[in-house]
Amino acid sequence: MRKNNKKTIETKWALICDFDGTISLKDVGDVILTRFKAVTRQEIKDSYDEDVDMAKWMKEVFTRLKATPKEIEKHLLKTILIRKGFKDIIKFCDTNRIPIEVVSGGLDLYSRPLFKKWGLNVKSFFGKAKFTKNGYTINYPYLNGCSLDDFKKARVKFHQSKKRKVIFCGDATTDLKAAMTADKVYATKKLLSLCKTHKVKTSWLRTFFDIKKFIIKSTKETGIR
Ligand SMILES: [Mg+2]
Repeated sequence: MRKNNKKTIETKWALICDFDGTISLKDVGDVILTRFKAVTRQEIKDSYDEDVDMAKWMKEVFTRLKATPKEIEKHLLKTILIRKGFKDIIKFCDTNRIPIEVVSGGLDLYSRPLFKKWGLNVKSFFGKAKFTKNGYTINYPYLNGCSLDDFKKARVKFHQSKKRKVIFCGDATTDLKAAMTADKVYATKKLLSLCKTHKVKTSWLRTFFDIKKFIIKSTKETGIR
């Protein structure tokens, strides 16, 4: 007899989420760059094209940014909202030993204050922004020469190699490769239409409560106890 009465779901799922536009309702990078006039709206629009190297683009445009981290933080804390259910699903994954991670082409410059505000503690991959008197320098140490799209896909494959099924959540072009590889996809915005074009089966990402329900339901159906 098990002494521990608290039931946990012994799933083989892993959950991987993009950050900008997926966990946050808006793309935080875009909000900063437009609010502090480092880019034009057209440049933001073009950055979503399929042939854009996102890490390279971020490195270039953030060097034009003049605002200090404090100014940026102040603006974000009053304008950026979190998608419903994200804090809850972190707790749910922890309780049920489901690996969860955030894989983002965004920056620690904004993830740090937002995670602090929202009280989130979750494994994550973000680019690093260093602010000096000459402006920002951006680095992506985790990429190791790999493109952001391929890195996201590699994280999906990593969990699959551990015999887990992967749920991937995303919103943009850089998420497509990971979505094509994942076992279950929740998509919003551009990724939703891209998946349709590429015939990748997706569910619409509304809140993270839907994903929790999906995990519980699929666990019951497969009879894993
Ligand atoms: Mg995104």
